[in-house]
Amino acid sequence: MSDSTIIETNSDATGAKRYAVDRGYWSDPFIRYFSSRLDKGRRTVILSRRYFTRVHTFFTQAVAFCSKFQGKCNIVSLGAGFDTLYWRLKANGTTFSQFVEVDFKEVILHKAEIVKRHRPLHDLQGDDYTAMSHDLRAEDAAASIRAAVTDPSLPTLIMTECVLVYMPPNDSHRLIAAMAEAFPTSIWLDYEPINATDSFGQMMVHNLKARGCELPGIHASPTVAAHSRRFEDSGYEHATAVDLNHAYQLIPADERRRIQRLEFLDELEEWTLINSHYCCTTACVDAANAGLQHLLL
Ligand code: SAM
Repeated sequence: MSDSTIIETNSDATGAKRYAVDRGYWSDPFIRYFSSRLDKGRRTVILSRRYFTRVHTFFTQAVAFCSKFQGKCNIVSLGAGFDTLYWRLKANGTTFSQFVEVDFKEVILHKAEIVKRHRPLHDLQGDDYTAMSHDLRAEDAAASIRAAVTDPSLPTLIMTECVLVYMPPNDSHRLIAAMAEAFPTSIWLDYEPINATDSFGQMMVHNLKARGCELPGIHASPTVAAHSRRFEDSGYEHATAVDLNHAYQLIPADERRRIQRLEFLDELEEWTLINSHYCCTTACVDAANAGLQHLLL
């Protein structure tokens, strides 16, 4: 799979987020600056609910993490794409010492150009924001990211939202292990498709392949437990993983009721089946005994 096809997945994610935001799944006044006006495609209810679960989980985990350390902490978003979390946290009054976004050069430059053109983005962006281009598959990725962080000994939240799956398992193993050493007090929050073993999973992989999109990382995680073991095998001390059915249940009931009223969903079985092919993982190393284990999902 070429790098440009991997980069394209960022447009898919941004378009799907914009579609769900426009339908009221969550509030994000910044996503419209990043999505293409030409993208008018409909998205399924199942897709919007899946994005809602993923965005809700990442936002609440980030807010809980920053509150616990009263802003004396870092967030490092690997394969950040056009994600707007930095701006949503700033608008929410959530503070952190540094927020670092890493992606391919093309994505980082394009994002910087968009921020420059739109005042609401530009005005919120402060000295606490760093964008860096780096191939996460490269051997020196973790060392370069560490060098870009002013204080890597601070508690650090590392995020990968649909990123590791595009990396060969050997490269993601090396990245996770090196990040655990580079950031000895860190918690990793990851969202990925898993489980390509059953017929639905095989069909999902086949359909993506037909569109030129391969998922080299998916076969490394046949189950939720296998996916969390990848973090434990790569130097993280504790890891927990839940599939998306479980992650959805962790969202407060009134919020789930609100979501379920937005768009009617008849295919509940299909929704449950698809959710079982995605998982949210948290893993931590805690050299400073900062109590990171309490933040695991
Ligand atoms: N995390 C963002 C989100 O959820 O909106 C973007 C997700 S998009 C599916 C995957 C992102 O990971 C893309 O922006 C892609 O360029 C980036 N990515 C994948 N492999 C990468 C690599 N080896 N090095 C740097 N970035 C990578």
